[in-house]
Amino acid sequence: MEAEYGRIEARMRAAILSEGRFSVETVPDPTPAPDGVVLAVSACGLCGTDHSIYRSRLLPDGAILGHEFAGTVVEVGAHVREWEVGDRAAVLPIPYCGRCELCAAGRQNLCIAGLGEMMGCGGAPGALAELVAAPLSSLRRLPSSLEPHLGALVEPLAVAWRAVNLGDVSPGTRVGVIGLGPLGLFAGLIARQKGALVFGTDIRPKRVAWAHRLGLGAFLADDQPDVRIRDLTGGGPEVVFEASGRPEAIERAANLSRVGGRVVLVASYHTPAQMTPGSWFNRGVSLLPSIAYTPGEFEEALDSIASRRIDVAPLITSVHPLAEVGAVFERFATQSEDVKLLIDPAR
Ligand SMILES: [Zn+2]
Ligand SMILES: [Zn+2]
Repeated sequence: MEAEYGRIEARMRAAILSEGRFSVETVPDPTPAPDGVVLAVSACGLCGTDHSIYRSRLLPDGAILGHEFAGTVVEVGAHVREWEVGDRAAVLPIPYCGRCELCAAGRQNLCIAGLGEMMGCGGAPGALAELVAAPLSSLRRLPSSLEPHLGALVEPLAVAWRAVNLGDVSPGTRVGVIGLGPLGLFAGLIARQKGALVFGTDIRPKRVAWAHRLGLGAFLADDQPDVRIRDLTGGGPEVVFEASGRPEAIERAANLSRVGGRVVLVASYHTPAQMTPGSWFNRGVSLLPSIAYTPGEFEEALDSIASRRIDVAPLITSVHPLAEVGAVFERFATQSEDVKLLIDPAR
């Protein structure tokens, strides 16, 4: 009888962040809005944004993080016609307002209202849970043939997609990548798919090895990477993606760039950076900060994963159950050599 009650009450497990710590708790199941659905989460990725929310205690107690995810529809709202139970979706977690001048100009990635209400980052609850509610406007269809975990990589791939678009990469463009974490590797893979010649560098041997395995040129920090990249590109790359997140790497990127080149920032920085104007001004190097993605870029990232034009599967270095969320966040802090960590709440 009690088991029956449990089902009627419908309580899911979620990783709850309170007082700076995660604990797996049972909480009421989400219910779909009339024009929304509830998804069973297939997988949820973690990134530097999650880690900085965790570390800086930005959110009130009781928060459910997780903005890089995909799932299977388990319940639809009263007005929903185009989605059915069993359909698979990746979720675009930023609710662009659609009314501001940036949204109107197709620059939704800068929509302040949308970014401030991002799912799992201060907006609606995220996907470090068995179930998550999502509005129809956020759903993008995934083919049922795709391995369920891969859908969680659409969101971070979209972040890199924006950066590569901003860098204006085309066939033959020479590209440098500083920092071969998930975003650096994704940017390198997208650039190569667009016909660019890509060379990366990182301080961590395993990450350089990952880049080699993916077919990208890459050098370790103690192997004079900047000298070698400048030689191999005949004077420096036209585009340098700074993906290490270290403030001092911004100036380094300017010096690595070719005269007249572009530095695209695809990381977040938490301390001030020192800049020598001459490194930029005298050499005509542009600085382009890349933030989030437009709906079109999210869809391009999804298409490239669904069609397997970009193989992201090798970048998933480990998959963990909800119970390990706390330990995984601690691992982030220790300069780990993981590439992409996923949480699978069904495990
Ligand atoms: Zn993220
Ligand atoms: Zn807007």
